[in-house]
Amino acid sequence: MAGPVCFYVPAHIIDHIAKNARQLGIDPEPAQRTAIASQAARQTRRAAAPANLTAALTPPRPGKGDRQIFDDGHQWNTGVTLVRGEGDAAVGQANANAAYDGLGATRDFYRDVFGRDSIDNAGLTLLGNVNFGVQYDNAFWDGTQMVFGNGDEVIFTDFTKDVDVCAHELTHGVTQYTAGLIYTDQPGAMNEAFSDIFGSCVDQAVHKVDAGEHNWLIGEEVMAEQLYGEAIRSMSHPGTAYDNPILGKDPQAADMSGYVPGGDPHVNSGIINRAFYLTAIELGTVPAARIWFNTLLNLWPNAQFIDCAYVCAEQARILARDGKVGRNAPQTVRSAFREVGIK
Ligand SMILES: [Zn+2]
Repeated sequence: MAGPVCFYVPAHIIDHIAKNARQLGIDPEPAQRTAIASQAARQTRRAAAPANLTAALTPPRPGKGDRQIFDDGHQWNTGVTLVRGEGDAAVGQANANAAYDGLGATRDFYRDVFGRDSIDNAGLTLLGNVNFGVQYDNAFWDGTQMVFGNGDEVIFTDFTKDVDVCAHELTHGVTQYTAGLIYTDQPGAMNEAFSDIFGSCVDQAVHKVDAGEHNWLIGEEVMAEQLYGEAIRSMSHPGTAYDNPILGKDPQAADMSGYVPGGDPHVNSGIINRAFYLTAIELGTVPAARIWFNTLLNLWPNAQFIDCAYVCAEQARILARDGKVGRNAPQTVRSAFREVGIK
């Protein structure tokens, strides 16, 4: 199965760091290496290399959505050493356990709330890699596996620390298998938004909070100490997640007045993110998630924002009719899309 490599930290942030680090007295090397490695990963997508299998670890059962966690030993390679299989006891490394837990939380959320069997709905084995590269300031899904960097501990910390990293990235996989939204302009922005949307839903499920208590921030747990309080995106107030000399200023659009035609999906995704936030605040996160998941199942590769609004209201109506969400869900959805200027 092919698909785009989806990086957690968008290129505009990594580029800003690489350009400005030296004058801020920060080692520019990790960001530069990250930019180069990201480029390389984009060009040479690969399946997991043959692993050094340890007999004591549990092999994955095909079609059961089992997890396999690899320690890449700071090589720029994936699938280096299998350290934990499904049901195996926790290991010494916190990030390997966090990756295992994050993959599990995401898989379980999709199963419990949507009845979906792993990413492909056919029990795809979930591969996770930790300790990829050296001070690698990113995480990505390459169409077959999840890869987490350690961060440089100056700007970003280990990317296993925030469950929304894993949930965001795995959702790119779900989108590949469902709507197949192409990664450009409006469908690209929706592809990004669905990853933030279900990423935040998993995050809320793990922390046992609903829409009203959630911070609606993406990536706030992977910011290193000196950037504490910043985040990569804000779903409630897109464009306000960060503003500092290291990362630059959050360029996200919050509504259609900020829409950039043909712009980076990570910029325009703010519009759709906020429409979900407005829906969730009214209906609660799980009912909103059900509506938006059915929307994802009914969209198509080059769908536009207006199509999303229409399909979403239709799915809300069907779920309301079946008593799965509140009676006013279609109106709430329409109002949310109108508030962000999609009408
Ligand atoms: Zn993404």
